[in-house]
Amino acid sequence: MTARPVLISRPASAFAAIPSVDRVLNLPGVAALVLEYGREAVLSATRALLLGLREALAQGDELSGDALAEPNLTQALHARLEADALPSLRPVFNLTGTVLHTNLGRAMMPEEAVAAVAQAMSRPCNLEFDLGGGARGDRDSLVEHLLCELTGAEAATVVNNNAAAVFLALNTLANRKEVIVSRGELVEIGGAFRVPDIMSRSGGRLHEVGTTNRTHARDFREAIGPKTGLLLKVHASNYAIVGFTAAVPEDEVAAIAHEHDLPFMIDLGSGTLVDLAQYGLPHEPTPQEALANGADLVTFSGDKLLGGPQAGILVGKKALIARIKKNPLKRALRVDKMTYAALEAVLRLYRDPQRLAQRLPALRQLTRPAGEIEAVARRLLPVLQAAWAGRAQVSLKTCASQIGSGSLPVDLQPSFALAIEPLVKGKGAGTALGKIEQAFRTLPVPVIGRIADGAFCLDMRCLEDEVGFVAQLSRLNPT
Ligand SMILES: *Cc1c(COP(=O)(O)O)cnc(C)c1O
Repeated sequence: MTARPVLISRPASAFAAIPSVDRVLNLPGVAALVLEYGREAVLSATRALLLGLREALAQGDELSGDALAEPNLTQALHARLEADALPSLRPVFNLTGTVLHTNLGRAMMPEEAVAAVAQAMSRPCNLEFDLGGGARGDRDSLVEHLLCELTGAEAATVVNNNAAAVFLALNTLANRKEVIVSRGELVEIGGAFRVPDIMSRSGGRLHEVGTTNRTHARDFREAIGPKTGLLLKVHASNYAIVGFTAAVPEDEVAAIAHEHDLPFMIDLGSGTLVDLAQYGLPHEPTPQEALANGADLVTFSGDKLLGGPQAGILVGKKALIARIKKNPLKRALRVDKMTYAALEAVLRLYRDPQRLAQRLPALRQLTRPAGEIEAVARRLLPVLQAAWAGRAQVSLKTCASQIGSGSLPVDLQPSFALAIEPLVKGKGAGTALGKIEQAFRTLPVPVIGRIADGAFCLDMRCLEDEVGFVAQLSRLNPT
């Protein structure tokens, strides 16, 4: 880094023109800012503002007289305070075409969950208090009956996310023991969840069997020995092995495990509780199928296809769940009342599968008819064309949405996008494209899309608030 030379020859009078902190605090209009933002915030914003001006001078920039004019100082102060007051976690428009986008918060919660969370946050609640008996209760009992009813499991417990669920299960059932897994299922999920790493941290010893593309029942059988603690299957959430392949069906692995009195666990990853085929989506294995196939323990996420809050759900045999709940790590991985509130509300929606696709946002967006998405795109096409007139070309394109979060990776849903392309071609097109992306990203409610084929594409599948989207387009400020 090269420091810019400091111009020491600048006359002291230039610096003297910069007002004192006290003078700024006494400017008309600043009292109102103190009322709104508090004295401390205004004081530190004033200091930062004046320091910025002094540094600009020292670096040789010319301060226009305007910058020091009183109304402009007040306005600059206001802008600074406003920017400072923006929360770090803000709503965005997810028009990436990935419905369950991990970086954008995965599943949107249904209004029932929002209301339940608000209630749980703002008032005392029976988180660990049994209202029936008046004694201390177990927080898992808030949702355990629903999980058992919906999956057919004997017992259930909840932790912070599915990575934690897998970790806790392995640590409880296979600490210092061998866990037999097919080489075709040593999954890596984005963001550093890797089966072999979670395994070693949990104290389990990975015993890989078979090959990447083919694993047979005899591979499992031959691997079982005195040190074996668990047989594990991991759902290949975000990839597919095709061609010359063989995997051992769940019921066969279960039979082998049970012949040797060993538990069999399935990490499902995404865990929808309904057959998605009834909504025209590709079928994704459910916990109820895994249990029916003989799994003793099944783990899945709360915020993938289930459409709920971030959570890791473990369902299965009563004795295994009881051991897991006794593990001191359960206490370290437990979830709070807001998660239980949201999860309970979402699970209740599953009791009424007929209306689920309307009430659960994740499913509503995934099943949104292509015709409806096209209609949104057609309505907004002229609006965006007007907003970019003379600066970029806007067109309607077909595209394919993804489910996301490592669910159903090869199944894409046909959708429609508005593609914004720079007018500049060749050299400079990349920079121009970056500026289009930035213009949307810096809106009051940032609009996040994806770049494909030289255009910034906005997939309309997840745009439900058209009015809010259009309302801020006048603030699009491409540089
Ligand atoms: C997503 C996934 C995980 C991790 O779940 P999180 O809820 O993101 O922690 C673990 N295993 C599989 C197979 C997954 O698909």
